[in-house]
Amino acid sequence: MRRLLYNLLSFLLPHRCIICRDSLAEEQGLCPTCYTNVKFNNGPQCTICAEPFEIKGDTCQHCTASPPLFHQNKSVFVYEPHIARAILAFKNSGHTEYANTFAKLMAPLAKEIITPDTVIIPVPLHFWRQFSRGYNQSLLLAHKLALRLSIKQQLALHILKRQVNTPTQQSLTSAERQQNVADAFTIRHAHAHIVKDKHILLIDDVCTSGATLNACASPLLAAGAESVSCLTVAKVGLNPNILYN
Ligand SMILES: [Zn+2]
Ligand SMILES: [Zn+2]
Repeated sequence: MRRLLYNLLSFLLPHRCIICRDSLAEEQGLCPTCYTNVKFNNGPQCTICAEPFEIKGDTCQHCTASPPLFHQNKSVFVYEPHIARAILAFKNSGHTEYANTFAKLMAPLAKEIITPDTVIIPVPLHFWRQFSRGYNQSLLLAHKLALRLSIKQQLALHILKRQVNTPTQQSLTSAERQQNVADAFTIRHAHAHIVKDKHILLIDDVCTSGATLNACASPLLAAGAESVSCLTVAKVGLNPNILYN
């Protein structure tokens, strides 16, 4: 019966490539062309923020000069125009079903980080932004990821709160981003015990300078979290040669 329903839905709603929207035979994901066009962030990179490097290195200039509060970030992709198209459709155009594909791609990296002691927390949106968008894309990612890994009990979806409706970060410099989100996040104190002595895995769609992840890490560490790691769909490389090659 379930198989029949699945076949019927597949017929009515064909699986599509999340970038070019071409139909796919098996399941929603990346078509062979888009798979070749995207840039997986699996090369040399900063051991802290996942900034892609041209040659093997240790930490990037940014993390060396000002080490973030989080222990590490891992990103599936380097942010470039192809994957940006899918992320923006996921975030701004209601393609919430893309969470499935992204979670599937994030799962191998998540397995390297998650232990039975890990609490998975999505980066929250401010109430008004979530209200106008209708969903929080990071919460969808965290939820699908935990379902896929069968660790739903390790989710804490509402412990962090975005108390300031910050302007979007897109046009800001690294220093401005840091200032923009400083003190933007707080913990719902009734739930603070959930993070005490725990390893946290923060989930977000994109990591640019890491300012947002850092601002989330601050109240979590203040509440007694042992460490904070981050997992994101894409890392915006600060070196344009790497970004578009
Ligand atoms: Zn495609
Ligand atoms: Zn770095």
